Amino acid sequence: MNGKRILAFGAHPDDIEFGCGAFLLDAAEKGAHLNLVVLSRGEGGTHGDASVREAESRQAAHMLGADLQFLPTGGDTRIRSTLELTQHVARCIREAKPDIILAPTGHLNQHPDHRETHLLVRDAHRLARYGKTPEMGSLDAHAAQLLLFYEISSGSAAGEGLNSVLVDVSNHVENWKNLMGCHASQTRNMDYIDLQLSRARAYGIQAGVHSAQRFYSESSLLATSSADLANFRSQRF
Ligand SMILES: [Zn+2]
Repeated sequence: MNGKRILAFGAHPDDIEFGCGAFLLDAAEKGAHLNLVVLSRGEGGTHGDASVREAESRQAAHMLGADLQFLPTGGDTRIRSTLELTQHVARCIREAKPDIILAPTGHLNQHPDHRETHLLVRDAHRLARYGKTPEMGSLDAHAAQLLLFYEISSGSAAGEGLNSVLVDVSNHVENWKNLMGCHASQTRNMDYIDLQLSRARAYGIQAGVHSAQRFYSESSLLATSSADLANFRSQRF
């Protein structure tokens, strides 16, 4: 991970930390550079307002040692994968030049903003690498090594046709709890943190470790040599 660049997208201020925060803590510890892009300030949420939620996001980004930016979109509950916004996200990808891009899964059983962000990033990932995509200014085409989708909720587990990979995050459970805790406005009345920790624990038990986060890829994942496979392990149960 040393020197690798990770660009993570979320629809709302807490999505990234809840969906892939433990993975990002691990990547940061191992020397990755983290860029977080949030497509709203969570102003449509039941709890908190835009300024509170932006501050929570900044606190979490600080804890991760990540750069953070908010994109101008229609805002919370109004994010739609228009061509204009897709091109904007593609420009973000070309500017950040990530090795790995992270976005929410596209399952229908979740907040529509998550699904739209999934579509936006999925399409922008392609536009960013096509040489003659219009509206890219002078930015060079960029092909990220990997596009992975993360689960924000148990209902958003991706389905058929995708390849999944579990990442061991056992060493980061306590810090992940604190990271999610930055979003205090979202955790006062609900057991969101417990929900994420429990799902990671269940994935971990399946794989024979304490906790794991699950990611999905539309493409097959390539091990660059036979030696890479020695670090993989399959499901235990
Ligand atoms: Zn969300």
